[in-house]
Amino acid sequence: MSPERIVADPESDPTATWALDPGRVRGLTSRAVVGDDAVHVTTVTPLSGAPLAALPQSTPRDVVRAVAQARAAQPGWAARTPRHRAAVLLRLHDLLLDRQSEILDIVQLETGKTRLSAYEEVADIALNCRWLARRGPRILSDRTYRGIVPVLTQVTQVQHPKGVVGVIAPWNFPLVLSLGDIMPALLAGNAVVVKPDNQTALTMLWAADLLAAAGLPDGVLQVVLGDGPGVGGAVVDAVDHICFTGSTPTGRVVGRQAGERLISASLELGGKNGAYVADDADLDRAAEALVRDCFNNTGQQCIGIERLVLHEAVAEAFLDRFVDRVRRLRLSAGLDFSGDIGALTSAAQLAKITAHVENAVEHGAVVLAGGRPRPDIGPWFFEPTVLDRVTPEAACYAGETFGPVVSVYRVSSDAEALALVNEGDMGLNAAVWTSNLHRGRRLARQVVAGTVSVNEAYLTTWGSSAAPMGGRRASGVGRRHGREGILRFTESQSVAVQRVMGMGVLYGQGPERFAKTFTVLLKAARATRFPWP
Ligand code: NAD
Repeated sequence: MSPERIVADPESDPTATWALDPGRVRGLTSRAVVGDDAVHVTTVTPLSGAPLAALPQSTPRDVVRAVAQARAAQPGWAARTPRHRAAVLLRLHDLLLDRQSEILDIVQLETGKTRLSAYEEVADIALNCRWLARRGPRILSDRTYRGIVPVLTQVTQVQHPKGVVGVIAPWNFPLVLSLGDIMPALLAGNAVVVKPDNQTALTMLWAADLLAAAGLPDGVLQVVLGDGPGVGGAVVDAVDHICFTGSTPTGRVVGRQAGERLISASLELGGKNGAYVADDADLDRAAEALVRDCFNNTGQQCIGIERLVLHEAVAEAFLDRFVDRVRRLRLSAGLDFSGDIGALTSAAQLAKITAHVENAVEHGAVVLAGGRPRPDIGPWFFEPTVLDRVTPEAACYAGETFGPVVSVYRVSSDAEALALVNEGDMGLNAAVWTSNLHRGRRLARQVVAGTVSVNEAYLTTWGSSAAPMGGRRASGVGRRHGREGILRFTESQSVAVQRVMGMGVLYGQGPERFAKTFTVLLKAARATRFPWP
């Protein structure tokens, strides 16, 4: 019943070198904006529980200093052309691919994820670097429109950088959810102050090193380290736009604080994502992809599937295939590509996931696969778990588990499936499986989620850099990726130039005559479809 364990060869076991070289750690942490007498916290690797790094902590005063330094550097960076800024991203792309083994190790050591999941982060950043560098300059260029007086008024829309952008990032995809937002902010001419989660601070510091090597001028990117409310709150208090990724409760706090200051905010929050397998789905393909969708990154994935909604005509046949695959997943603590499932990232995660499974079982759920912690592999490993007969009273029915746990539900129609997938107040991601693409597209439009994949898992939407991603309802505000993902870091300004004749000529007719003339013009434009304004 249980997933098999990879037994590492003690001779070549990479866990023997789990502690990072202290000199390298000191080099990385020297990038953080901290005081001389900074307090240190020690992180541990989820792969073994061994100490990983002593991290100096910033204070709110350090955050003020970091923002001031970023503000001083920003005008020089904004004065460069978007093409020049894009060239830095292209160099970052090349350096990242060349030096990927370093960051794969660091990401695995900090998060406990598998090497493939760590590689997904590298691939994602490379894809987005290239897309941003190629498309971004045009998206940021001026646009002209017809004005109020045909021919004589010309309006130009100009995109200005916001100034200093704050990025607050979680621990689950430490490269993608920090660097992935920093890149478009920089491309748009902003300076950035980033606060990663302490657990994944080394990943961010390594990325800052790489950006410097790619030619980002000093001061434009500042890294502060510390706890959420204190240091994160100080970032929200000092920047011109806040880009936050994390849980919905924290998102509400950050949103309130940004609202108080009247600064803009993009909030990428939690999900309770559903996948519907319709009665005409290709069950082998669906089972193969949904295992990825449910358990990638040990289920610690905002867009991962936590609700499997199965048409009753195919439910048992699908479950045979799906559960069999889940039971064969290999848990691994190795710094190599041998495993399918990594560790949970913290003791708190293990406690929450264990509690969700126990609570579901107490309320009548049946465990079809997994269901147990695996301390024999590492301190915070948990088996990939499939639950059947989960009742609405169970905590995992509506609440985000954010772990390797998926619940199975059966329905008898598309309408019932949509009602279940749309239930609750989240709206981040979903998937639909059907061999009728017309039906798939129609169903997708009726799902309340920022992204929906038809016949694939999250990688199709996530990996399509031109397409926006983000949450509806309590899953977020704003979008990353695509045009919207760049323009959120800018202020639009309209500059209207009036030639030859001013607007006063119209007013020169007297107000009543003007109103009549203008009404005639409005009606004529409507009747003739004259392109005005
Ligand atoms: P979290 O909200 O606890 O923390 C996220 C970040 O915010 C951390 O850096 C933390 O230090 C900081 N923070 C905490 N309190 C803060 C405050 N009061 N002010 C400012 N910053 C504060 O979330 P987490 O547990 O790290 O991440 C998991 C959650 O993130 C899940 O709910 C997951 O769904 C969500 N998530 C969403 C996306 C997305 O794109 N929608 C992506 C990844 C994760």
